[in-house]
Amino acid sequence: MPSKKTAINTEGNLEIEKKPSEKTVSAAEAAEKPAKKKTAVKKAAAPAEGAEKPVKKTAAKKAAAPAEAAEKPVKKTTAKKVAAPAEDAEKPVKKTAAKKAAALPEDAEKAPAKKAAPKKSAKKAPANEEKKAEPVAAPAETPAVVAEEPVSVVAAPEAAESTSAAEELPQPRRSVAFIGSECYPFVKTGGLGDVMYALPRALTKQNCDVKVILPRYKCIPWKYQEKMVYRGEFYMDLCADGRSFYVGIMEYVWDGVVYDFIDNEEFFSAGNPYISLVDDIPKYCFFAKAALAALNYMNWIPDVIHCHDWQAALVPVYLRTLFAGTPIGGAKTMLTIHNLRFQGVFNIPTIRYWTGLPDYVFNIDVFKQGRDDANMLKAGLAYADMITTVSDTYAGEIQTPFFGENLDGHLRHHSYKLRGIVNGIDVELWDSSKDELLALPYGRADALARKKENKRALQEHLGLEQDDGKLVLGLISRLTNQKGLDLVTSILPSLIDGNTQVVVLGTGDARYEDAFRWFENEYKGSVCSNIMYDESRAHAIYAGADALLVPSLFEPCGLTQLIAMRYGTIPIVRETGGLKDTVQPYNEYTDEGNGFTFDRYEAGLLLDAVNRAKTVYFTERERWDEMVLRDMDKDVSWDNSAKQYRALYLELKP
Ligand code: ADP
Repeated sequence: MPSKKTAINTEGNLEIEKKPSEKTVSAAEAAEKPAKKKTAVKKAAAPAEGAEKPVKKTAAKKAAAPAEAAEKPVKKTTAKKVAAPAEDAEKPVKKTAAKKAAALPEDAEKAPAKKAAPKKSAKKAPANEEKKAEPVAAPAETPAVVAEEPVSVVAAPEAAESTSAAEELPQPRRSVAFIGSECYPFVKTGGLGDVMYALPRALTKQNCDVKVILPRYKCIPWKYQEKMVYRGEFYMDLCADGRSFYVGIMEYVWDGVVYDFIDNEEFFSAGNPYISLVDDIPKYCFFAKAALAALNYMNWIPDVIHCHDWQAALVPVYLRTLFAGTPIGGAKTMLTIHNLRFQGVFNIPTIRYWTGLPDYVFNIDVFKQGRDDANMLKAGLAYADMITTVSDTYAGEIQTPFFGENLDGHLRHHSYKLRGIVNGIDVELWDSSKDELLALPYGRADALARKKENKRALQEHLGLEQDDGKLVLGLISRLTNQKGLDLVTSILPSLIDGNTQVVVLGTGDARYEDAFRWFENEYKGSVCSNIMYDESRAHAIYAGADALLVPSLFEPCGLTQLIAMRYGTIPIVRETGGLKDTVQPYNEYTDEGNGFTFDRYEAGLLLDAVNRAKTVYFTERERWDEMVLRDMDKDVSWDNSAKQYRALYLELKP
């Protein structure tokens, strides 16, 4: 069989001679041939003046001094990483969903390695790699080189349903590429990771063919890395001076969703996905462009590319500029804001250098912010065909100065294409009746009794006084200003009344971590502060607590209140963003509602809401118990929201 020839030229366009899948090899096989790959890289990197001097520079340094960096050689392949990831991958990773992930390998193992069939050596590097690193990207207006092969939307293998199942699915079928920076169980630091896991799975039930594109961080546990199959590699121009970077694609198919990991050791080898902007800006410039180039390379042209947060916000910009004439250029884009606070803002020269985008996009309507800065999210919002955010209320809030994080004007300008769809949770993952991380799993029928057992187990485990008559308030959160923790710390002494216990789980700002540690020490037996990220402890708290505090200053959607309700734990929330949309306030006259709420951001109002909850808990337990069951009955699944996303995809691609 002739060796496969693929190349991505300076515009990120694809030149293909054979289908990439034909050269699929396993990670292990790829690992055997690092030397040859490296040689190829060296040649590919040759055009840069400094390329002969392979000095590894940190991304941080480069971000700080793009001009200088431009002269330095490009750091090369991930061959080494492929060869020996086990060591690093097995190290405990801060903030990954390690424990819960441990409960999943069964499913994971079911993942058919369908694309691994024709095993070939990774050594068969394309012979024409030298020509890939041609310098200088052409501006958008330049007609791009289009793949010579006919382009088709290639459905993922799981697309093939049985005829009867297919008949029940809504028609027509739509293909969607998700692009984002984290996804449970591979890597998760917050709600985005949950959504990237659960929404694609829900969409497969809505007749969507979904491919999720993620960075292949080194911190992804080895048990997933070892199941990835090599899907291909190429070199891609990135920066303003046309520096060439290695892009590897590793694939993992699981439960009807195809995960493609963009591989590059230089950008993705830190222990945590997010480090600091100085590192993250180049990393996500690379990621956005590489994701599009990978879709072209794989010849997988979806109807819609669904991007998430600032880390993927450059995708719509690249698509309509450097990739405009390429196969992927025909796709529509949706950009979802999971949290407007994070936008990817840095000085213009740095972002201009790393993106390699044409000068004309660095204007006030696209990238430019203030006098000297470029804002990656702002640019993505300008170019996306559709903007969504994760609740209706937040969609309105972000158009106001208070919540708008300096983009309220920009969002008002683009409001014609802005929609709000509330998140759901994966109800199979979050299922108290099957949750192996609980002391005693429970369903609706035995919830009232078994929640008490879980409470006692939690109290015992955390060194709290064991008494199921006490009200246990949980708090599971990043410990940052957003989460209303100044309200919590200011009322905490008033909460501890001899009948109430507080359990905190979170990491974040030192001031809150220290404050909660202090409270634990001060109120031994009544307060327990777990300053850590721990999935299994989160599950135990959702099950063992009576109520969960979510008093956020702002909350785009919030997942903890949804998980709490699913576990029969009553949320106490501030009426903002998704908290307002998902928690109906308890009405003592009609006995309706799911939780206790307050509106203005004031400590006294939070205390009042907790006191209202206490009154019902201690004096009208039957009503409390009914609310527990009502919350467990509430539909917090993705079904409804996935239908709404599907409807928007169809709006974009009828
Ligand atoms: P955000 O994305 O703003 O952090 P969300 O409520 O949308 O908040 O999502 C938080 C997710 O992270 C939930 O799944 C929650 O259970 C989880 N989580 C937050 N902190 C921790 C922690 N310290 N340990 C385990 N899980 C946590």
